[in-house]
Amino acid sequence: MVTEDQVRIDYINDPELQRRDIRLGMLRLDLLHPVISGNKWFKLKENIKAAHDQGHTAVLTFGGAWSNHLVATAAAARAAGLQAFGVVRGLHADTATSDTLQQCRDLGMQLQTVSREAYNRKEDAAYLEQLGLQFGHPYIIPEGGNNEAGMRGAGTIAGFLPGDTTLVTLAIGTGTTFCGIRQNLAQSCAMLGFPVMKGGDYLQGEIAARLPQSANWQLEARYHFGGFARHNPELITFINDFYRQYHIPLDFVYTAKMMWGLLELARNKELPAHSHIITIHTGGLQGNRSIKDQLCFSLPG
Ligand SMILES: *Cc1c(COP(=O)(O)O)cnc(C)c1O
Repeated sequence: MVTEDQVRIDYINDPELQRRDIRLGMLRLDLLHPVISGNKWFKLKENIKAAHDQGHTAVLTFGGAWSNHLVATAAAARAAGLQAFGVVRGLHADTATSDTLQQCRDLGMQLQTVSREAYNRKEDAAYLEQLGLQFGHPYIIPEGGNNEAGMRGAGTIAGFLPGDTTLVTLAIGTGTTFCGIRQNLAQSCAMLGFPVMKGGDYLQGEIAARLPQSANWQLEARYHFGGFARHNPELITFINDFYRQYHIPLDFVYTAKMMWGLLELARNKELPAHSHIITIHTGGLQGNRSIKDQLCFSLPG
């Protein structure tokens, strides 16, 4: 099983930050486990527990061909002695060739590729009912672990943050991790989230609705690099340079975009001086498989 004692904070010694008395630490959730990576573990742990508590022997979840969540679920279910089913958004060349899906299968997850139309019904009660019948009533975890249990589990990440932290930053997909942490953090500590998909500003309303009691948070949606999982040569160069300088591997889908954005804000003096910033490495390194030939470091595990 996963133990959380691998997690630590590494400090980024950047001269520009030091000049302005900004301490920048990275909470290394990527060190948790090579497959059950980063924030995905935190969102899964309460779901796995609920599956057990409710007497299920299997879990079912959803993801695309390179989904960090899908492979983390496969590994976490296996470790917990639960069978796992994955509904894959398919009819795309990637689903046949994806190393991520192969790893899911190797971990014993049974995959079913469905059309985009079917996949888009993944939150429909009638469709979930149908999947329940088909797979023997597994415990259903929504895509990305985006439910109440997921948010509760993600909230425990706040426990790793030093008490004098003034700003927490992280990459955003569904916003589940961001909301979970926000709910468990002192209101005096600010939060800045970086959506990694194009048009991420739509998350503003969604997150506000999930956090009726919370303030002191903001989104910075400019650093999407063309869209979810899109990248350009500059981003790849940044990942390699960052690794050479700090010996921290970033993933191109989430953490690299967030880190690029954060360092750009720092250079533009848009980050508060005299602050203690913790940026969260949410893991996801397995996703680098699809660009592994372009990276100067190897994949975990
Ligand atoms: C899934 C993922 C996220 C996004 O998490 P949400 O809770 O969906 O916002 C961020 N970083 C990495 C590395 C991820 O795999």
